[in-house]
Amino acid sequence: MSAAELSGKPLAGLFQQKVQDQVRSLELDGVRPVVAVVMATAGESTRWYVRSIERAAERAGVGCRIVDLGHDATEPVLASVLRDLSAEPSVNGIILQTPLPAGVRTDNLVGLIAPEKDVDGANPLSLGRLAVGQPAFAPATARSVVEILDHYQVPVAGKGVVVVGRSAVVGKPLSLLLLARDAAVTVCHSRSGPLERYTKDADVVVVAAGRAGLLTGRHVSSRTVVVDVGTNVLADGSLVGDVDKASVTGTAAGLTPVPGGVGSVTTALLLLHTVEAARRQSSSLPLPDGALEAQVLEAAG
Ligand code: NAP
Repeated sequence: MSAAELSGKPLAGLFQQKVQDQVRSLELDGVRPVVAVVMATAGESTRWYVRSIERAAERAGVGCRIVDLGHDATEPVLASVLRDLSAEPSVNGIILQTPLPAGVRTDNLVGLIAPEKDVDGANPLSLGRLAVGQPAFAPATARSVVEILDHYQVPVAGKGVVVVGRSAVVGKPLSLLLLARDAAVTVCHSRSGPLERYTKDADVVVVAAGRAGLLTGRHVSSRTVVVDVGTNVLADGSLVGDVDKASVTGTAAGLTPVPGGVGSVTTALLLLHTVEAARRQSSSLPLPDGALEAQVLEAAG
């Protein structure tokens, strides 16, 4: 048996359509949504990712302001830029792209993103609100995983779901979203011991470690659905996930591809959050109500 390919492209297409519809409707009110992406790295995978946001924004009619501060940007410079963008009325969404230069503390900066513009759920306030079910934008990558599972009707309620990775941007918010969906969530990390101890019996495994080839066929069973969040640029310039595609395809029930999986949906969701933020800011509405439930259900319906 060969694993079904759970492409993100059809879902990304649906979200892109939704973004375009909302852009047209906002246009009638004289509003043009704008997202600002702040970056300070020479890393190739980050540049690849930012380029994909820029291209998607252009296609959808969303303004995209790339603020590239260079790989030696300091924390005070980054802080000042984030404060300015938070106060700038023409900017509706702000994304602070990691990694940042050595010595710069991401956690000192993300709190400076205005919560109503925090379209990638990076501010600790957004994560805290998510944890207790209050209004907030969920991090787009975490939401993307849940949306893909929904789209392919992979049940998580009452199922064993293993998340590999515990970062504040992917693993932790994803585990909160899955908990809210009644999954039995196990979070693994670099010190949790052999992966197969947790993954072999799982119904769903989501890998977000940033380690090419980390999850192989021997880690999963024939009923496991695998979602590959990882993006790793190899020496030859090609992009791969965290999953050893050949062996996992031969063993698991389903697998998201890289590229064309989680990343394509993430980009579309960032833009959807931006147009949503623009709509709410232009009519002085509060953040989306019901946080994760509302966001997830709205997209599924
Ligand atoms: P991160 O901050 O580096 O976190 C990686 C996590 O993986 C950490 O919790 C780490 O454990 C864990 N880990 C590392 N090696 C491991 C191992 N051998 N076994 C088990 N766990 C291990 O990375 P991130 O920002 O969460 O991103 C993760 C991956 O997703 C990266 O490849 C990134 O490029 C990708 N990504 C993709 C998208 C998308 O839309 N497709 C968006 C964001 C990120 P410790 O906590 O113990 O160190």
